[in-house]
Amino acid sequence: MVRIRSVRKCFGPVEVLKGISLDVPVGGVVCVVGPSGSGKSTLLRCVNRLETIDSGRIWVDGDLIGYAEKDERLHHLRPSQLCAQRQDIGMVFQRFHLFPHRTALENVMEGPVVVKGVPKAAARRRAMELLDRVGLSGRAGHYPSQLSGGQQQRVAIARSLAMDPKLMLFDEPTSALDPELVQEVLAVMRDLAASGMTMMVVTHEMGFAREVGDNLVFIDGGVIVEQGDPRQVLANPANDRFRAFLGQVL
Ligand code: ATP
Ligand code: MG
Repeated sequence: MVRIRSVRKCFGPVEVLKGISLDVPVGGVVCVVGPSGSGKSTLLRCVNRLETIDSGRIWVDGDLIGYAEKDERLHHLRPSQLCAQRQDIGMVFQRFHLFPHRTALENVMEGPVVVKGVPKAAARRRAMELLDRVGLSGRAGHYPSQLSGGQQQRVAIARSLAMDPKLMLFDEPTSALDPELVQEVLAVMRDLAASGMTMMVVTHEMGFAREVGDNLVFIDGGVIVEQGDPRQVLANPANDRFRAFLGQVL
């Protein structure tokens, strides 16, 4: 589903991603960990083209992200084509970014109605199903300010799912939450993984990585330093920096 090859990304003179290659198979869950500033968010943002890359290639479901390949040359996509690519990729951030003046239901309906032109009645029905799926059918009429952080994050997940993404990106979805609210969000993500969604998850929740991840990737200084089956690499980290990192987060 995701193929990342030799991706480099600079911010000014600073090279933040120094040649990242990574695959996520259909239905696979890759968990990305690493110290602050190592390039985790940048990598996710490159996958859905919130950032342009300086070299390398990223494919999602066979589409080369950001470019069209014609006569063996790359052409930048037009904004409308980029939009079409992005619709296949859902993203959930540390902060929930819900529309504050819209109810939970309206937040989930917004994308399908405005971007895809889905009739309101159908969008409402689907949004109710999704709110039910994240355990919030009883909160459909609540505004974000009337919901806990964990509930807001679950609405944000439902809102992403409403666009029928082929891939979901999660950037530290639980790190802004009070500890007692973390598990309810992880439970929704666990269900989503079990349903076959392809996911890239930046997280410090090693329990989640061990249980749900098919692949654990440790990034440090813009390179993948170690990766493998989460159970194996967590039990037996080979790299010194990875071991030191685990010592801090576990
Ligand atoms: P954290 O765990 O703190 O979220 P991260 O691994 O997600 O860190 P990134 O946010 O990807 O790290 O940032 C990697 C580096 O790129 C950092 O040094 C950061 O300061 C820099 N950086 C990120 N975004 C920009 C930007 N828009 N302009 C300039 N520098 C940036
Ligand atoms: Mg980050």
